[in-house]
Amino acid sequence: MATVAELRERLRRPLAAELASGCQNRVVAGGVDKLLASPLGNPFPGVREALSGYAQKAEDARGEALRTALSLLDGAASPPPSAPRKAPTRQAVPTAAPGERLPADAEVARLDTGPGGARKLQSLGLHTLRDVLHAYPHRHEDRRALPDLNEVEEGQKVTVEGKVVAKSRRSPRPGMLVIDVTLETPSGGRVKATWFNQPWVEKQLREGARLVLTGRVKKFGRSVQLGVEHLETVENAQDSLSTGRIVGVYDSKDGISQEFLRRAAYRALQAVPQGDYLPTHWRQKYGVTDLSDALWGIHLPSDEAHLSRANARLRFDEYLFLELRMLLQGEDAVLQGKRFQASGSDISTFEGALPFRFTNAQRRVLLEITDDMRSDQQMARLVQGDVGSGKTAVAACALYLAVRDGYQGALMAPTEILARQHYTNLLGYLGQLDVRVGLLIGAMTAKAKLEMQTRIAQGEVDVVVGTQALIQENVRFDNLGLAVVDEEHRFGVQQRRKLLAGRPDVLVMSATPIPRSLALTAYGDLELSIIDELPPGRTPIETKLLQDTHRQQAYGFVMGRIRQGEQAFVVTALIEESDTLELLAATQLAADLKVILPEARIDLLHGKMSAAEKDHVMNRFRAREFDILVSTTVIEVGVDVPNASVMVIENAERFGLSQLHQLRGRVGRGTAKSYCVLIAGEHSQKTRKRLKIIEGSTDGFVIAEADLKLRGPGELRGTRQSGIPDLRLADLANDTEIIEQARELAKHILAHDPRLEHPRLQYLRSELQNRSQSVAYREVI
Ligand code: ADP
Ligand code: MG
Repeated sequence: MATVAELRERLRRPLAAELASGCQNRVVAGGVDKLLASPLGNPFPGVREALSGYAQKAEDARGEALRTALSLLDGAASPPPSAPRKAPTRQAVPTAAPGERLPADAEVARLDTGPGGARKLQSLGLHTLRDVLHAYPHRHEDRRALPDLNEVEEGQKVTVEGKVVAKSRRSPRPGMLVIDVTLETPSGGRVKATWFNQPWVEKQLREGARLVLTGRVKKFGRSVQLGVEHLETVENAQDSLSTGRIVGVYDSKDGISQEFLRRAAYRALQAVPQGDYLPTHWRQKYGVTDLSDALWGIHLPSDEAHLSRANARLRFDEYLFLELRMLLQGEDAVLQGKRFQASGSDISTFEGALPFRFTNAQRRVLLEITDDMRSDQQMARLVQGDVGSGKTAVAACALYLAVRDGYQGALMAPTEILARQHYTNLLGYLGQLDVRVGLLIGAMTAKAKLEMQTRIAQGEVDVVVGTQALIQENVRFDNLGLAVVDEEHRFGVQQRRKLLAGRPDVLVMSATPIPRSLALTAYGDLELSIIDELPPGRTPIETKLLQDTHRQQAYGFVMGRIRQGEQAFVVTALIEESDTLELLAATQLAADLKVILPEARIDLLHGKMSAAEKDHVMNRFRAREFDILVSTTVIEVGVDVPNASVMVIENAERFGLSQLHQLRGRVGRGTAKSYCVLIAGEHSQKTRKRLKIIEGSTDGFVIAEADLKLRGPGELRGTRQSGIPDLRLADLANDTEIIEQARELAKHILAHDPRLEHPRLQYLRSELQNRSQSVAYREVI
């Protein structure tokens, strides 16, 4: 049962989005009236009244009504103003007095971060001060010397700060919205910034608002225009954390500003005591700075040198703890596992039932797997291979072998869409071999779930496909022999352990193309098999990089394919800080495409849909009920639609190469020749070089290597790039030396004190425990 606070939030979000997108009554399916008529509206009669007859209202009146409704909702959040404010009888967690020190594991509620601050942090998964300190910015922006507007050059990326002095909106043709804003900088210079088709930014662009804009310069004679890539509102002009320095940009979400996160980091830095789990002589030996200096430097660097010092130290730590964990786990690496027959004749039976022959690479990997399966030791193997290389087919064979020996098998996928897809595939592979395949996912009814759980417990199902639901408490296997985990990095270490409770053999499949040497560091506790060959007969995907001025041409091409009876994916820009914005961008793009391509049937998929809604859309797309699927990046992971032959990626410059490669892997799964069109907005030479790699190769490993070479040292990146949860700052290509040093130290430490028992190592030990936990935790949410 949802609490009133949750209901309020669920009502507030769409209303706020509706207001932000210009009151078109398009944000909510069925309109605002329908939303309020739903049970969501029940607890809020005032809001219902304020918005009654919304559809009939004029645009202005709608805005007015929405603002009233939103303020009613917000008011309902705090005690009514007329009531005398009593001091709470039991103050749950007193915040620390200024200057007071707190332990790193203190709850964020102890930190003075203003009203609702603790809740905001918690909603980002940050529960303790340590969490806040280790939630590093994913990039930094230099806002020190803001450029002299007379001297900026065409194409240069700059950050400017100032006040909105003029704003206008126009609609040069139907379905197109242009918002222009003029910003006056403190030195009196003026910059014009333009947003195309992004009505949701409008709310932040009030006249008088203080903005920090980052983007690329376009010059028209003497006037300077900015193609904005990052927008921040600064509430407090004096805020020394957000202006006039190198600032960090954090992963965030709706309603949680960068300013707030910087302030929270600042408070946490002030509150925790100094101290370092790395003793001085080791820091000296490896030339790394102390912990306090590093944490200040990553959040609030005083200059570039400070930032790079900080980065080096924290990266060193990431590898050190990773190596320590691997070595400690290695201690009991030789575990007793299941022993299977895995007979040659069973393998032949499986292959005989396939509509194709295994490739040489598949065959080799299968041999490695069956060797493991035949031994007593618990298999812990990673199968790495590009999308479409045939990992699932190999895993299906291994599952078949387990079942032939009377064991059960499980396949765990990161999302429900994927679980269903694996289920369909396994039915295809195993159904005809008399293997009973079952599905268990969160979206099933309680009754259906219970029924499946009972069948699993009683051994009436041989292979179960599912999501996290598979490892929840009330799932008991009768006799689990082999567990296959798809896309390892989305699951945490703890989860894997849970699944391992019955000591099944474990096979992990991953499409993240990490070169072999690096994979050993990242997945040190797993043996590695690589499928480095695609099944024959695939026509390579043809990729074309276009500037956004050629969008029309790109969509003309898409229409051509659709007329041939094929379908297309269109993926919208990645928006760093907000999934609502991402949704609105996708909605807007779908609307635009309906104008550009009136003949095409277009639908939308986004991350805010429920699993059932997503499935519904995907099923309709697969059944060819519409032609173009506009989507946010939720389709990134393995969805199969063989008839989709074109992938268009808007704002391709915002994506990492691995991600582009994964996205592109969604097409080229059928017999038709497939295409990928990358539409790039303004971007640098360097970005262009990177995008050219994707245009020039379809080999995931080649792309990964080339990408790693092109990146300069010291570039900050988060897990989005490395794909490995423990490594948030890691730059695997350039870190070889650090990795070796960290490994050396980890070995040295454990050689002298295998259990980290020495009192001097207490701090190190507890940090190791904390990190292992938080990695798992982060992955669960
Ligand atoms: P992955 O899991 O690596 O993405 P899949 O196992 O899902 O790859 O295989 C992708 C597609 O290729 C599936 O449609 C599968 O049936 C097909 N396939 C797999 N192996 C072969 C093969 N050796 N020859 C032809 N087609 C294959
Ligand atoms: Mg797959």
